[in-house]
Amino acid sequence: MREVAREEADLILENASELLTLEGGTKKPLIGKRSRDLGLVKDGSIAISRGRVVAVGTTAKIRERFESRKIIDANKKVVMPGFVDPHTHLVFAGSREDEFEMRLEGTSYMEILLKDGGILKTVRETRKASKERLLEGCRKTLNVMLEHGTTTVEAKSGYGLTTESELKCLEVMRLANEEHPVEIVPTFLGAHAVPTEYKNNTDGYVNLITNEMIPEVAARRLAEFCDVFCEEGVFDVEQSRRILTQGKRYGLMPKVHADEMTALGGAELAAEMQAISAEHLLFASESGLKAMAEEGVIAVLLPGASFALMMQRHMNVKKMMENGVPVALGTDFNPSCWVESQQMIIAIACHQMRMTPSEAIVATTMNAAHAIKRAQELGSLEPGKRADVLVLNVPGHRFLGYRFGVNLVDKVIKDGRIVVDGGRVLQREW
Ligand SMILES: [Zn+2]
Repeated sequence: MREVAREEADLILENASELLTLEGGTKKPLIGKRSRDLGLVKDGSIAISRGRVVAVGTTAKIRERFESRKIIDANKKVVMPGFVDPHTHLVFAGSREDEFEMRLEGTSYMEILLKDGGILKTVRETRKASKERLLEGCRKTLNVMLEHGTTTVEAKSGYGLTTESELKCLEVMRLANEEHPVEIVPTFLGAHAVPTEYKNNTDGYVNLITNEMIPEVAARRLAEFCDVFCEEGVFDVEQSRRILTQGKRYGLMPKVHADEMTALGGAELAAEMQAISAEHLLFASESGLKAMAEEGVIAVLLPGASFALMMQRHMNVKKMMENGVPVALGTDFNPSCWVESQQMIIAIACHQMRMTPSEAIVATTMNAAHAIKRAQELGSLEPGKRADVLVLNVPGHRFLGYRFGVNLVDKVIKDGRIVVDGGRVLQREW
């Protein structure tokens, strides 16, 4: 038999005990029975060229078709797509470990907020901070995220709450995105809280957001999405609707922090606005979830937040799945929920919400990519997609969630380049 010339690939990764391709979810998020569909290939391999996936299959099949000067032996470990974190508050100054202790001793989150603590404390510090200082904080966070396998992250503004400082935070995201391998997808969240100077004048602040902030953010192309904290005592449904409508007019797709502390109707609003996602949803009503399913709104669940706030209540993820709501998981990284690791979120989701490891993997890859409009490029390992790949120090995917509190990442490949090896960021790579 004639030897067929093999194609040259930039990089081949082979001998994975399990290659999780997550294939088949690019057009639509994985829901229902498919929400645990990992596209698993035993003894898997992947060929990469020019930063993109060229082919996936068994090691034998890939060897038949490709050759490369750079072959990495995955050594019977799990290989999967990089985690996508669809909900973070990346840019802020300071920390709130003192309030953590107060909350442990019985003060509630809302009580702290009403005494100008919580978000408002972080706002004061973020307003004062220089761009350089904020960027330095971002770098540290992004390195930790990358070491824990997150290759793309959505980031919300919302600790400035003046036009100037909201723009400053979004500009910091742009700078971080230019220099760091982790891709940052920016969201404008001027409606994160009502700043002290607008106390008892929420409508006045909503006017500032709609008349000044949104047009300015859009003109400078600093965000893709517009989000709002729709919550009792923050922005009500009508105010949230005004903000999201104006955002849409300026090309910013709606997202909603919905029904986190009370059943205010945030899920219903997300459906009505045809938002790309509704986030938190701890108290979402069944009719709200049904409306979300009809409109294809993705539920971005943040079990780290309810864990950090010690809420003793969990999202009813089974009900969401039964109703056909696509489910994604995010960290909600912020000063009251300081967690960079999607592995930790998977562990909490499994233990507290009874998601299976497979469901949690889908929710942190393919469905998370949908929640930030990146499904064409990310979330699965299929030909043509960006080569964002993890090698985990475990022999099977069920170790995710099961083995927790340590970093399971061995290698991270971002756009075809190795950026983490032995669980450590290789700074020289950028
Ligand atoms: Zn949030």
